[in-house]
Amino acid sequence: MGYSNRRRNFSSHTKNNNSSNRRGQSSRRRGGRNRAKQVYIDPARFIKEAKHSEVKAYTPVNSFSDFVMHGSLKRNITKKGFINPTPVQDQTIEPGLDGQDIIGIAGTGTGKTTAFALPVLHRLISNTNSKALIIAPTRELAQQIEKEISTLTEGTSIRSALIIGGANMRIQIRNLSRQPQIIIGTPGRIKNHLDEKTLRLGKTDMVVLDEVDRMLDMGFLPDVTKILGLLPENRQSFFFSATMEPKIMALISSFTNNPHTVELQPESTGDNIHQNVVDYRGKEDKIEKLHDALINEQVKKVIVFDETKYGVDRLKNELKARGFNVDAIHGGKSQGQRQRALARFKSSDITILIATDVAARGIDVADVTHVINYSIPQVFDDYIHRIGRAGRAGRVGYALTFVEQTGSQYYGS
Ligand code: ADP
Ligand code: MG
Repeated sequence: MGYSNRRRNFSSHTKNNNSSNRRGQSSRRRGGRNRAKQVYIDPARFIKEAKHSEVKAYTPVNSFSDFVMHGSLKRNITKKGFINPTPVQDQTIEPGLDGQDIIGIAGTGTGKTTAFALPVLHRLISNTNSKALIIAPTRELAQQIEKEISTLTEGTSIRSALIIGGANMRIQIRNLSRQPQIIIGTPGRIKNHLDEKTLRLGKTDMVVLDEVDRMLDMGFLPDVTKILGLLPENRQSFFFSATMEPKIMALISSFTNNPHTVELQPESTGDNIHQNVVDYRGKEDKIEKLHDALINEQVKKVIVFDETKYGVDRLKNELKARGFNVDAIHGGKSQGQRQRALARFKSSDITILIATDVAARGIDVADVTHVINYSIPQVFDDYIHRIGRAGRAGRVGYALTFVEQTGSQYYGS
């Protein structure tokens, strides 16, 4: 299969036949979100030629050494091999260091983690009474952020605790009792600890919501509102995502105080990713086309997204039977299984990971070349996050979206 830009004449009579065969969508997911209903997305939006500029022509105003921040942070940044700040870092770190609230909207894989981590860590180092809470929508993303934080805090006395579901509560309680200055977690488990009074937030004067639009959508909003309500009013907030809806933006303003808002070319999100569709007719053809795609030698490391846990397991078994070395990640698996699958994928022990949207946001596996949407995402923002797992840190990535073709009409898969 080629990646040429086969721009098709999509019928204007397209419609979606998805809602009837969608399994397991009626109730809250374990991740705690009521899913949005499938919205029809014109398949033409899944086709886009990437801009051929591996190295984006961006000249940062600041260098990392310009920032007024602790020397150990600068050293650790250098150790990580970061030479210049990315645009979102360039435009949010300084006001963040100044103590302002920050809203940062910038493309997938553009270094938002470091953009919020540096100001937070600088303040924690400068003031040992200061505390921070970082909230993320999935356990894997919380773990990833904790890792990033630990590389940035090497050689400092900053301690962190990871508070996520599916992990041992007693160990977390012990870690919390050691008064870590920084806590990273998922909303449900943070709320459990608040209910158990094993966590108090009255002195937590910084908060980060990563993937903020997700954190404030209907599934997470009650827990997140409760958590934010327990924080001191006089605090510094950092809200980041690649996507943002006006409705959520309005909500954010009630949680922030005169924020410094940076919104970087939202229309060009996904610009570094070649996007195309794969037409198929019927189930047999669909799996054969996937098989073809996976044996293409350009497809070096790929995440295949499917809609449901059931679909992901079924696809994993089917591909295993065909001799592919694959693993799967979804909310129905144990935390150990989830972690193992992701670790194997990161280390390239497997190069094909089948996933639900639990892996759609934030996950940074540097060398993912392709994202395949075996099923169409429910909303276009989910699409943006899914394809953003490829093409990290200025690389070019590829995305293929399976679109069913029936006569001249296209249907969602
Ligand atoms: P985002 O949250 O915007 O999707 P991440 O924070 O996960 O992006 O960063 C994406 C990748 O870019 C990571 O592997 C990270 O180590 C790398 N990165 C971040 N900042 C820089 C920088 N200034 N220079 C080079 N690489 C960077
Ligand atoms: Mg991120």
